Amino acid sequence: MSSVSSGEWHRNAACATSDPETFFPLSYCHEDQVRPARRICGRCPVRTACLVDVMATENPARRWGIYGGTTPAERAALRRAGLTVTPAPTAPSVGGDAA
Ligand code: SF4
Repeated sequence: MSSVSSGEWHRNAACATSDPETFFPLSYCHEDQVRPARRICGRCPVRTACLVDVMATENPARRWGIYGGTTPAERAALRRAGLTVTPAPTAPSVGGDAA
């Protein structure tokens, strides 16, 4: 599911033709409900850009949905671990710096 902000990368999102409900399972705790979205994200050519975007733009108090192959709890854990995201003009990168 492409995330909340817009960008050129959205045009290449693997989820563009998928059922949006796939990315909003009833339970994020049951892998069988999360796996279909993870599979789509796993073959998505813009996964890194998606994850960078959602980490930079989503409201931490209102995390919802699977983006970049991550659940809301996983993104919260990345943020707690000190993940930094740095969008680059040509090649977005994701780096971690767990303290
Ligand atoms: S990584 Fe997943 S949620 Fe993000 S654009 Fe690709 S398919 Fe959609």
